[in-house]
Amino acid sequence: MNQYIDFNSTIYPFLSKPALLGKDEKNHYREKIKRLLKQQDAVMVAHYYTDPEIQALAEETGGCVADSLEMARFGNNHPASTLLVAGVRFMGETAKILNPEKRVLMPTLEAECSLDLGCPEKEFTKFCDDNPDRTVVVYANTSAAVKARADWVVTSSIAVELIDYLDSQRQKIIWAPDRHLGNYVRKQTGADILCWQGACIVHDEFKTQALMRMQGLHPDAAVLVHPESPQAVIDLADTVGSTSQLIKAAQSLPHQKLIVATDKGIFYKMQQACPGKQLFEAPTAGEGASCRSCAHCPWMAMNGLQTIVHGLERGGVQHEILVKEELREKALIPLNRMLDFATQLKWENK
Ligand code: SF4
Repeated sequence: MNQYIDFNSTIYPFLSKPALLGKDEKNHYREKIKRLLKQQDAVMVAHYYTDPEIQALAEETGGCVADSLEMARFGNNHPASTLLVAGVRFMGETAKILNPEKRVLMPTLEAECSLDLGCPEKEFTKFCDDNPDRTVVVYANTSAAVKARADWVVTSSIAVELIDYLDSQRQKIIWAPDRHLGNYVRKQTGADILCWQGACIVHDEFKTQALMRMQGLHPDAAVLVHPESPQAVIDLADTVGSTSQLIKAAQSLPHQKLIVATDKGIFYKMQQACPGKQLFEAPTAGEGASCRSCAHCPWMAMNGLQTIVHGLERGGVQHEILVKEELREKALIPLNRMLDFATQLKWENK
């Protein structure tokens, strides 16, 4: 087994959370953000897992709310000279790699991701060097340095299709960093995959026993699961997919009740897509009753209205994403391969 960092709840109390704001303060910051976005020729690019009020503001100001693939595409195509990325650091880095001429700001650069942190460049490079006959496919949730070492970058929305394609080319694969998604993709495609053993601290916590009990309480509910969840949870799903695919499934499935196993931030867009349906959070390690057990990413939660204002007003080392040019050029190659593949796939599926 390769090396990876395992996380536990002890880190969470040390993550700074945005201040709790009253109604007037929220309005004040919302108006300020709108002004700053205009003044700075900036647009908001927000992930589905951020707070609903951030998602609403991104929509209201002409920005986007999306998964990491669509965030990358949107930032790439939008004419604004500054991108305000509300999400976690690798999303800001991806935006910068694709748009070197744009200023990329984030509410905080301390918003990390356990998959990214659990796949350090040095160890990962050794892992790849030890297996030189394999094509290296890394998930978008990785640092620029890890992307630079990869042949392909991929997001969960096209992971099965890409690995299926590489398998049809008889390529053996290194998959990193998420072990659950890697196992899921292996099961779907039968590809020869050597998996890095990282995990998402949010999806890793969904529990099968508690989920089955919930299914007992709501036998008419469909279960929607993100493939970063453990295989035993995936086995209970009616639909498995990326955030965008789960939102589409919520809309198209006939069920009026949906149990959703991914970060609860997704409920904002999911409820918009199917306003009449009842959404339930799939159970996590809730019986332990620690903050670890809530289905919300502690790093995504670091994005707040106040920190967005700080990002837009201050910029600088605490908020601006910078990627060394040499590294950027290397990381751009597998990222562009992913975007071209996704475009081709979209075109074929029309
Ligand atoms: S939800 Fe999981 S995969 Fe997404 S940013 Fe948080 S730790 Fe990373």
